[in-house]
Amino acid sequence: MVFPRRFWIPALLSALLLAGAAVFLLTRGDDGTVKPGDALLTASQGLTEYRATLRMDPEAGTLAISETVDYVNATGESLNDLSLRLWINAFKKEETSPASLEEIYDACYFAGFSPGGMTVYDVLWNGERVDFAFSNEDETALRFAIPTLLPGERGTLLFRGVAQIPQCAYRTGRTEGIWQLGNVIPLMAHWENGEWRQDAYAPIGDPFVSDCANFDLSVYVPEGWTPACSAPLKKKADGLWQGTILAARDAALCLYENGKTAKARLGDTLILSYAAGEEEARAALKYGKKALETFSSLYGPYPYPVYTLCQTDFPFGGMEYPALSMIGKSLYAGDKRETLELTVAHETAHQWFYALVGSDQALSPWQDEALCEYAMLRYVQKRYGQSSFDTLKYYRADAPMAEGVSGSLTPGSPISYFSNFTDYRTVVYGRGAALLLALDEFLPGGTDAFLKAYVQAFSFGYVTRARFEAFLNRYSGLDAGPLLLDYLDTVM
Ligand SMILES: [Zn+2]
Repeated sequence: MVFPRRFWIPALLSALLLAGAAVFLLTRGDDGTVKPGDALLTASQGLTEYRATLRMDPEAGTLAISETVDYVNATGESLNDLSLRLWINAFKKEETSPASLEEIYDACYFAGFSPGGMTVYDVLWNGERVDFAFSNEDETALRFAIPTLLPGERGTLLFRGVAQIPQCAYRTGRTEGIWQLGNVIPLMAHWENGEWRQDAYAPIGDPFVSDCANFDLSVYVPEGWTPACSAPLKKKADGLWQGTILAARDAALCLYENGKTAKARLGDTLILSYAAGEEEARAALKYGKKALETFSSLYGPYPYPVYTLCQTDFPFGGMEYPALSMIGKSLYAGDKRETLELTVAHETAHQWFYALVGSDQALSPWQDEALCEYAMLRYVQKRYGQSSFDTLKYYRADAPMAEGVSGSLTPGSPISYFSNFTDYRTVVYGRGAALLLALDEFLPGGTDAFLKAYVQAFSFGYVTRARFEAFLNRYSGLDAGPLLLDYLDTVM
């Protein structure tokens, strides 16, 4: 995720960035044919499978969801209950909605508070209806007992419900002509340390932790609407779109009324960009292509056959999902294009640090945010040279080391410790990126070579901070513990 544009770099950088802007040719008339590569086919073997049918009702503001989950118990332990995350339930009440934070409330609830949430009609396990309950306060964790499921065993969950999409400019919400459907598809909870994760929907940062699975989606939209999705969708009939994404830890959608699309190819990857206007779609596409190219060369190949950029009506810079990034609408304005480019770069880096290598976004947010912020700096260095890198590094990593923040926040703090976006950006993004820059000094081949090895070792997996540290020690042959402690856990 990245934050409202007023927190971005000062305008003086615009000149530097625009001065180096390259010219790109767009591939037009693509037939949209996409195929998963070998890495994805291998990674998809034996994963949990989601088959969901989503039906949009613009008048009611609802999305009906019918989902079958062929669940594989990959926890290594015997299970007697299961948990399904219904993040949209946090939007039921003002008190639990992540968009209720005072800093963003008016921008999100532009027409006043609008409730969201899921009405659950059916939950069946192996054909039997189950009694379920919500096990956390914001009702985002649905839980039910099952007969013992041994490690490696499979079972089938059937879920039917109707999601009320709040009228809200947020990653989950609907505004004029756009429905943003991030974290709407119910996902199995993540199992860790002998229990299901039940994190609340914290308003700062991304509370989502999930495991890679295969998704097959059918999406019904009325005439005039076009769906963009993590799973590349093809039109099957009037109003019906269908698509698949393999080995992804989530699947997000944006639905556009009269939206415009631009597309380009980068090797085997199709890049799609959706926006209200054609020129805006092309602008983001150009940056998406540059970012994908840069990070593929730095951190290893992008594995998904399609990468989609979605212009999104929310007060943030951007928000990452597997194979899809939501990008804040305001950044598409002509005079914000340099911020658009940096935002697209940051969000695209999440395809490596979040989508490919999963980490604990709730308890250890630096592990994806700081890495993406660092990667974004490298993008600027590769594309626009050392002097642009030095300037941006000053604003985004050096200055945050000297800025004051409230309380005893450190980059290693969980998202629940933060109460405003400024502190979160300064500490987790800025000071976190400073750690990666410091590591550059003593790692063989520098931080980029380390991150490439990290991606190679943990693609499609989940890496705790302890595993990160162990891998770093093994890779470097040094004890990085004191340095991590110094940067991540020391109150300044
Ligand atoms: Zn981010």
